[in-house]
Amino acid sequence: MNTSEKLIATEQRLGANNYKPLDVVLTRGEGVHVWDTDGNRYLDCLSAYSAVNQGHCHPKILAAMVEQAGRLTLTSRAFRNDQLAYLYEELAALTGSHKILPMNSGAEAVETAIKAVRKWGYEVKGVPEGKAEIIVCADNFHGRTLSIISFSTDPDARTGFGPYTPGFRTIPFGDAGAFEAAINSNTVAALIEPIQGEAGIIIPPAGYFTRIRELCTANNVTLILDEIQTGLGRTGKLLAEEHEGIEADVTLIGKALSGGFYPVSAVLSNSEVLGVLKPGQHGSTFGGNPLACAVARTALKVLVEEGMIENAAAMGDYFLEGLRSIRSNIVRDVRGRGLMMAIELEPEAGGARQYCHALKERGLLAKDTHDHTIRLAPPLIITREQVDWAVSQIEKTIS
Ligand SMILES: *Cc1c(COP(=O)(O)O)cnc(C)c1O
Repeated sequence: MNTSEKLIATEQRLGANNYKPLDVVLTRGEGVHVWDTDGNRYLDCLSAYSAVNQGHCHPKILAAMVEQAGRLTLTSRAFRNDQLAYLYEELAALTGSHKILPMNSGAEAVETAIKAVRKWGYEVKGVPEGKAEIIVCADNFHGRTLSIISFSTDPDARTGFGPYTPGFRTIPFGDAGAFEAAINSNTVAALIEPIQGEAGIIIPPAGYFTRIRELCTANNVTLILDEIQTGLGRTGKLLAEEHEGIEADVTLIGKALSGGFYPVSAVLSNSEVLGVLKPGQHGSTFGGNPLACAVARTALKVLVEEGMIENAAAMGDYFLEGLRSIRSNIVRDVRGRGLMMAIELEPEAGGARQYCHALKERGLLAKDTHDHTIRLAPPLIITREQVDWAVSQIEKTIS
């Protein structure tokens, strides 16, 4: 057995079996590329589900991390640190938000928003205690905690984990009529992904979010957009809401907020929602720690200063054009926005996973989602030549 076979065998023997990764054992990353233990190089077209938008081991984020790690890593929020205020200031300037709450994982940001809007519902909107409702969409993905999977419609994510947290109302994604019908006087919020990522890069119809925004405003419902995957440049804008010409009341970001170095997430609010949380009512030992803040500050800085958002828009258009020019009788649909893209295969093609295996053999790493869809999300620093190479490998694999 070589090194990778040994490591895979050990993982299988000792690890919980809650993932089914492609059998490639990675040991190094730089920019858009990663290398396995046998020295093979791959173009990463997943970017850790968009956590590595800035590219692997970005040198400036690395330097900020090393510098801060040698100075001060964790104080807890029992004391203050000299990085948090700067992160607040820089995030507020970039996104226009008025209040910010830092957490670690994406799921924690979602949980934080749910807690805050429920409390806001009781204290500000006047919803009777225990009656708050949050509207969510079918085929959502917002994370893995018990309350979040309570409103998942994916049987794998949900079945067997009850009893479930009540207070959620599920409607189809992209259907503004269903949204209007679901609102009642106890509705405190709507929690929606601008583009459904895990569901297979599902883009809602034009005008959908304009109508959702109107309905939320008219009914005093907090619009929470989960931009943990779509945000921070992935779709060719800083936030995907910009494509829709709207502003959420609460925006959730995570993943690329650290450029893949560290779990950092945040709840951004431009309304009074976060104001309802008082000392002792919410927190996290690691949330807002100086190491996380230093990493996040630099991750945001390079995203903007190095033109990654504009590059995502240009390379996304170019990549999609390349994918759409592929002649193949197994492709049902090619869709995307910026560098958040998907190739949906015909059901007769026999599943996307075998094509991801074949792409791996050609040096391109991508991940199947929902059986028939290949998801493509390279780091935002990808070049035209690298897109050309990727499209030609994909063409050879599916035509
Ligand atoms: C990844 C993701 C989450 C959960 O983030 P974790 O850091 O894995 O907890 C939530 N929402 C969306 C849209 C995501 O893509």
